[in-house]
Amino acid sequence: AGWFGHVTEAPRDPILGVTEKYLADTNPMKINLGVGAYRDDSGQPWVLPSVREAERRVSGSHFMEYLPIGGHRQFCEDSVRLAYGEHAEVIKGKQVAMLQSLSGTGSCRLFAEFQGRWMKGSKIYIPQPTWSNHHNIFKDAHVHEVLYPYYKPETRGLDLEGLLDCLSKAPAGSVVMLHACAHNPTGVDPTTEQWQQISGLMREKRLFPFFDMAYQGFATGDCERDAQALRIFLQDGHRLALSQSYAKNMGLYGQRVGCFSIVCDSPSEAKAVESQMKALARPMYSNPPLHGALLVHQILSDPSLKRQWFGEVKLMADRIISMRTLLRENLEQLGNPLSWNHITDQIGMFCFTGLTPEQVNKLTNEHSIYLTRNGRISMAGVNTGNVSQLAQAIHSARE
Ligand code: PLP
Repeated sequence: AGWFGHVTEAPRDPILGVTEKYLADTNPMKINLGVGAYRDDSGQPWVLPSVREAERRVSGSHFMEYLPIGGHRQFCEDSVRLAYGEHAEVIKGKQVAMLQSLSGTGSCRLFAEFQGRWMKGSKIYIPQPTWSNHHNIFKDAHVHEVLYPYYKPETRGLDLEGLLDCLSKAPAGSVVMLHACAHNPTGVDPTTEQWQQISGLMREKRLFPFFDMAYQGFATGDCERDAQALRIFLQDGHRLALSQSYAKNMGLYGQRVGCFSIVCDSPSEAKAVESQMKALARPMYSNPPLHGALLVHQILSDPSLKRQWFGEVKLMADRIISMRTLLRENLEQLGNPLSWNHITDQIGMFCFTGLTPEQVNKLTNEHSIYLTRNGRISMAGVNTGNVSQLAQAIHSARE
């Protein structure tokens, strides 16, 4: 017998599969609303001018050596300041264990491995729905998941009651994954008061927060405001873990640059935890890539370049917000009788349209519009040139 006759084909990734089908379509009017990457108003990827400037500054660098296992130290310090706040007590108190990671996915995976090894027997509570790869990550790390209610289809908003009820019954010591902002795929974020309620309950029940922050700045256009959930939890005295990604907010998708951090009780605890984070990274990939970390460090450590970057993040977020308004207006102008408030109420890269899988099929088969079967559209794929075509297609699918 051969070696691999028993290997069956793995199911396609639900998100990447959409792009494959889009590429195979020959209709010139086709629209890709599947993948979560920013596009400008002409549908093109955008390299941020601040990133271009950072590239200019690092070009010609003779440093091509390995980074340490934990990556670029100053980059990590810049990163945690961006997330926890310039004057965060836990940073001053040297309570933060940190390591440069392979973007958001790599941070999530390292956390899952850390949880499996050092928070033994604990389960991970994951919002329903969530980014589909979360399920794979914790499964492969052998950490059991429990789904907690997050989204209420009737209101197309947050299921706060369901969420609080489920978490109030979770055993002490459980880990709860929270999307820090711009929840993927629903676009639904808790309000300030709701975050305070969730934080209070989690403190009371001794639940450990793991924040996945893949979109800092992308929700409101303001990196400080988008960190509010995290800051509320810090204020409430939580210890927590955080995954950061620069894929979306700096457009560094392919550079795989992110940061993984854990807030501990003391400097000595942080030192031990950090050493164990490195012990997990070393056998997986030895050390992270250099280039992206150099770029991010250039931007975050130079006040004027950082200010420029803040403006560029806001520009991306504002374009997306204006497309939400335009899509809703187009649907309303077509006389569609349904409510489309959720398009503008939701925030971040995605809109959870409420389209059924059958309606999604109709959009794809009859209008060459590609999106995931859960009805999620990437607002970044919408522009002034295709919004009316999209509105008409949704209108006819939902009549
Ligand atoms: N977490 C969430 C919620 C995401 O939506 C994504 C990307 O789509 C990621 C993590 C990981 O992104 P990356 O690994 O490209 O940083």
